[in-house]
Amino acid sequence: MRYGSAREAKESILEAGRRLYQRGYVAANDGNISARMKDGTIWATPTGVSKGFMTEDMLVHLAPDGSVIEGTWKVSSEIAMHLAIYRENSDIGGVVHAHSPAATAFATQGRDFDIAISLETAVQLGVIPCAPYAVTGSPMLAENAAKYCKEYNGCFLEHHGAVTWGADVTQALFRTECLEHTVIMYEHMRGLGEVRLLTEKQLTELEAVRQKFGITTGGRPKGRK
Ligand SMILES: [Zn+2]
Repeated sequence: MRYGSAREAKESILEAGRRLYQRGYVAANDGNISARMKDGTIWATPTGVSKGFMTEDMLVHLAPDGSVIEGTWKVSSEIAMHLAIYRENSDIGGVVHAHSPAATAFATQGRDFDIAISLETAVQLGVIPCAPYAVTGSPMLAENAAKYCKEYNGCFLEHHGAVTWGADVTQALFRTECLEHTVIMYEHMRGLGEVRLLTEKQLTELEAVRQKFGITTGGRPKGRK
């Protein structure tokens, strides 16, 4: 869903910013959020501001190429990653990038999260790939992340954080929450000993559930035989 009203797009961004901050998913001025309008233009968060305390006048309206249409604040260089994601997949209406602690810790390992540990993760996210390290704000980082946005629901950014996308900002935010929750659960499971996965049979059943929810992206994580 792309936004038909600027007010709705901006309110979704401000609300997502408050939630990211309250949950400790962004420290200081970290993170960025954007929303795409029906006309293809984008509303984005400013740089140098806590995402928990933004006001409407801080948000910046951008053309798809990143040139500013409206707004006096500067956007982060990381918005290039959002623009690349929107260019790559026309279905996406919202992008959320955060540095939530568990997901960011997992991202230091530079590997995909490709196992089925919980029903919710398997349905809502599927596999979460890891985009290889690139300097923040670089065209390479944008390219590395955007290449996953047709097939998956989000990705880790090696030694950096994670980015999720969805039909709107709320769905992208929920995927950020689900991703962080998943990695926390995984760490707890490791503490318990064996990491016990859903079975392949259970995963096949869950594919039908995904279909019912209209989730076609994310791929199938590994289960146990
Ligand atoms: Zn970042």
